[in-house]
Amino acid sequence: MKKVIIVGGVAGGATTATQLRRINPDIEITIYDKHRDVSFANCGMPYQISGEVHSRDQLIAYTKEKFQQKSIEVKTYHEVIQVDTTHNKVTVKNLITNSVMEDYYDYLVLSPGARPRQLPALEDSDIVFLLHKLEDLDDIMQHIKLKPAEHVLIIGTGFVSLEVLESLVLRGIKVSVVHRSNHIYSVIEKEFADELLIHLQERGVDVYLNAEVTQVEGSTVTLSTEDTLDVDMIFSGVGIIPNTAFLNDSNIELTDKDLIPINNYCQTNIENVYALGDAIETNYFHVDRSVNIALAWPAHRMAYLIAHHLSGNNPAPLAGLLGSQIIRVFDFHIASVGLAHNLLEHYDYDVIEHTQRNMAGYMPQSRPIHLRVYYEKLSGKILRASIFGEDKVDKMTDTLSAHMYHGGSIYELINLEPAYAPSFSSPKSVLNMIGYKALEKQDS
Ligand code: FAD
Repeated sequence: MKKVIIVGGVAGGATTATQLRRINPDIEITIYDKHRDVSFANCGMPYQISGEVHSRDQLIAYTKEKFQQKSIEVKTYHEVIQVDTTHNKVTVKNLITNSVMEDYYDYLVLSPGARPRQLPALEDSDIVFLLHKLEDLDDIMQHIKLKPAEHVLIIGTGFVSLEVLESLVLRGIKVSVVHRSNHIYSVIEKEFADELLIHLQERGVDVYLNAEVTQVEGSTVTLSTEDTLDVDMIFSGVGIIPNTAFLNDSNIELTDKDLIPINNYCQTNIENVYALGDAIETNYFHVDRSVNIALAWPAHRMAYLIAHHLSGNNPAPLAGLLGSQIIRVFDFHIASVGLAHNLLEHYDYDVIEHTQRNMAGYMPQSRPIHLRVYYEKLSGKILRASIFGEDKVDKMTDTLSAHMYHGGSIYELINLEPAYAPSFSSPKSVLNMIGYKALEKQDS
């Protein structure tokens, strides 16, 4: 019987295991995870803080018992510390007993994810919290329960920070944010991020820009701007680092950013070793450029692909990623699809921008929606789009993602036929308008 070892048991790892079991009733599957929990929805954790998700148990997809019923062995608090690809062997440390053991595989699947970056200035403080594992969520909820927080400082403005910020404000907690540049949420263009900044300030959030935390003493935080804040909790969200150090002597290739490069079947440079999720590097779908997209959709898509490829099912290869992403911050929805905006400078591109109501403007519930589409001058190929508004941002993003996947140009947006009635769209939708404007520009 063939044996598959999976490193990491959350989004990518757990999904690969269950997909594999569905296809192969007989294959032997063991998951090793160094932490307490497997198969939970990290994406849902901020919404337990706000109370939108009533119970943290709702975030658990598969319990250990459920894995057991499927004959999938799950070993938590077991860290894979070394991989020997010559002998198909992993070395595993039991973090409870400190004992070390070896295990052998026919196929190895790596889904070790990434860990939050830690700031040296926060190391000795006991009011600092992260949100990456279910244990982190439990710590936060326990802290709030024991001593209700009145003022929380959030460091960083990535999507997890912003989701935690929203959740705390919705709980009635005063929130301050510190960000080291003047461009918050840097995955989105500065002009759009500035709109978000105004939105945060309107909600009573104090934002300290061009500032860093230099010292934490008890509950007093000192910033590089010499401001001091008295806070009950600090939430740190300043980026992630791939968990790939255990692969250093394995012959598995790593990039200069410590990511695992994979081919279109998610194989590493070693044929029987697959990798997926936050720790990998793959390619964009629409341009010839490598990318790391640390989001849930790629992990789930790759899990399906690996399970089928490893089982000899000859699945269609993954042709790359478009990097669709979206976030809700109070009434503000902000999304993008395509190339990162800081890579556009490598292309000869033009931009079309358009704002209109997200449905017939005479409808009382209509709201403005703003779209910016970047496209290659010569071909009209869409390189990137950014969208913000209060509603239907997801619809525009998903439609553009499908259009880009099928190779549609900016000019062909005029042919996208919306399902129209006044409370849903307009006879000329915002996407159609972008297409018309691009044609007009071409003719001028
Ligand atoms: P993970 O799910 O992080 O799993 C990796 C596991 O590997 C961990 O449990 C770790 O303990 C284990 N591990 C690492 N090294 C070893 C080792 N050597 N031995 C044994 N075990 C090891 N994405 C979205 O698309 N939309 C969202 O709204 C969204 N919200 C998020 C909110 C939060 C709070 C967080 C933290 C993430 C969010 N994400 C979101 C990102 C998404 O959850 C990740 O992209 C996804 O979980 C990546 O899956 P993964 O399997 O690569 O890593």
